[in-house]
Amino acid sequence: MAKSKKQIRRRSTAKKSSTGIGAAVNAWEDDPGSGATPITRPVPDLAKKPLAFSFPKPTPPPDQYHPGTSQFRFWTAAEALRRGADFWASRVPLSNWEVGSTLKVILDEGVDLNAFYDRKALNFFHGPSPSGTVFSGESPDIVCHEMGHAILDSLKPQLWGAASDEVAAFHESFADISAILSAIQLPSLRDAILKDTGGHFYSNSRLSRLAEQLGAAIRAQQPDAVDRDCLRNAVNSFLYQDPIDLPPAAPASQLSSEPHSFSRVFTGAFYEALGSLLAVVASDPSHPTEQELLSTANNLAGVLITAIKQAPVVANWYAQVAGNMVQVAGAVNKDYPAVLKGVFVRRSILSLQSATSVQSLQRSMTGVSAAQDWSAEPLAKVAIPASHYGLDQPLIVETASHARTFLATSAAPDASPIQPVNAISVAQAFVDDLFGRGRVDYAGVGRPDARIEHGRRLRSHRLVERAKTIHLERTLFDCGLCRH
Ligand SMILES: [Zn+2]
Repeated sequence: MAKSKKQIRRRSTAKKSSTGIGAAVNAWEDDPGSGATPITRPVPDLAKKPLAFSFPKPTPPPDQYHPGTSQFRFWTAAEALRRGADFWASRVPLSNWEVGSTLKVILDEGVDLNAFYDRKALNFFHGPSPSGTVFSGESPDIVCHEMGHAILDSLKPQLWGAASDEVAAFHESFADISAILSAIQLPSLRDAILKDTGGHFYSNSRLSRLAEQLGAAIRAQQPDAVDRDCLRNAVNSFLYQDPIDLPPAAPASQLSSEPHSFSRVFTGAFYEALGSLLAVVASDPSHPTEQELLSTANNLAGVLITAIKQAPVVANWYAQVAGNMVQVAGAVNKDYPAVLKGVFVRRSILSLQSATSVQSLQRSMTGVSAAQDWSAEPLAKVAIPASHYGLDQPLIVETASHARTFLATSAAPDASPIQPVNAISVAQAFVDDLFGRGRVDYAGVGRPDARIEHGRRLRSHRLVERAKTIHLERTLFDCGLCRH
């Protein structure tokens, strides 16, 4: 006889039913709003190194809790974090987080429709939605997005402070890619996606739709701030445009220089590349197997990581990473470079000229500096004019200023290569956007009457006075688009 919900809840929340490590927990495969039912997973070891996690005590004993309980929310977040961190740890590889051996996780910090990574912890909230209260920390999509920020920060810490729209947007894209790749590690989800899409991986599915539940909650308050069926969709048709020419904000249906909006160009290209590569490597291109999906996703993740490591931090960062991906992909599979070039050219992330020349450039530079690891190279700090932000002295910012090993360019709408704007102009445009959107906390710096105030928005940056100079510093990467 089937148990009633009440019976399941009573049994699953009882402490005496805990069976300890080695038992199982219930968890979501992906977002709670995707329509799927929970699955049973082995108990995750949160203290496992590398990339351990810590939660405020007390934590619930492992057990198969029912959705809707705080214990279920804890274990579904824990399961997603362990799965995602294990996936990245072996691929990067990483021995520590940027913050040390253990990353703190705060699953419910109060009311907000958001989540963020602030180099101290992964922070999550709860908030109202038409279907009741939603918890951002209950969604594996959001949890693995925030964890993705922490992974990229540990891999390439210079990206944290770089004053560049493309760099900030790439951080968001990598975080969304982290959510997608972490989900693909689940065999049951791979099977479901291939079935749901009829083998055509690059089509709208619950894998491409990110954070459906938080998206619905934000949509109820701001109808045009998110996609119609999720927060962001990796299946989209956005093409690269130089963010310096884009508006600082726009409805979700259009592209803006706002990092979450602009991230969709790179995420869309990555997801499309995954679908195209899968069709090329599958024994039966119209019916790829879940094993072929897993190995292709993991290979492409490796290509992305190698490219990020080798790419100097420059103003047109999308083209630089894409160019490096094309360069390194041939070492994984000889069919990969051509497919990647096709996708990046269709998205205008790479110009035709760059797509065709990056591989020969690599050959001509072999033994010079093509494979330099830029991970430890600091960025140049530059003073930019700041009177229009209400400051009486210049503002010091970190610029996307690494030397280039080769010139990769994106394409304009007429297919001509876009010569990259210099790092200082890009920094000024980025900081203009930040002040315009109200994302900078003056933190007591500058005359109060000269400041531009935007109310209680979540700030991603703050001003810091040091030795009589004013610096712009990043404080966090967030995942939502909410007002507060
Ligand atoms: Zn984010």
